[in-house]
Amino acid sequence: MLLTIQPLIDLANTDLELQTNIFSRSHLERQIDTARSVVDQHQKLFEQKNNELSHIINEGKEVQNNIQIQEELILRLDEQVPKIRNEKEFAASKNQLEEARKMLGLLEDKMLELDMKKEDLDQEIDSVNSELTESNSAFQEETSGLLKKQEKAEKKIAKLEPRRNRLLKKTPQNIKRFYERCQESGISTPVCAIQDKSCSGCHMVLLPQFVNELMANPNAHKNCPYCSRILYFPEVEEEIES
Ligand SMILES: [Zn+2]
Repeated sequence: MLLTIQPLIDLANTDLELQTNIFSRSHLERQIDTARSVVDQHQKLFEQKNNELSHIINEGKEVQNNIQIQEELILRLDEQVPKIRNEKEFAASKNQLEEARKMLGLLEDKMLELDMKKEDLDQEIDSVNSELTESNSAFQEETSGLLKKQEKAEKKIAKLEPRRNRLLKKTPQNIKRFYERCQESGISTPVCAIQDKSCSGCHMVLLPQFVNELMANPNAHKNCPYCSRILYFPEVEEEIES
């Protein structure tokens, strides 16, 4: 016997399947995001180390430039020495030379320090880079299955949503309006089966009389006294089929 509430039952089943797929899609999204976060961390570290490296390179260029200036100054001062005519000029020149040589020494120390830092950083970048490559391929491997599942869920959702809308058109106006109101307020399964003497939407246990009434009349439906979802009593055959 074909129940007149069959479209309503079909609608409920479609919604349930739709919700399952929507849930699985977001669950997969989270799993993929978690896997990606490892790659992102390595990527971030890689960029950070490369930034440090370019800072060091720039600093090195500046120091090198200053070294050249000091060397030229020393050369100039040395050339002037034979032209010095008195004690006072000699002392001044000697002072200037000493200052310049001291500065040059400091700059050369700084350059050495930068070279060493750069060498360490180069090594660090190498290892961060290989970690990045490794985590990237691990991510691809790990998520290829998840991405396929996600795609499957996506296709299911794309099929189920129009099916739900088709079924909704077949339901009486008042139910349709109720259904749409529920969906607007975030209830994704406005029509539900009674399961284990409870509303399968809000999981509240229903009064035996309430359950018995619907069991006796499988073509009827009632609103859940707790969440006001439309409830029906599922046929046993339905359960086996699904
Ligand atoms: Zn309920």
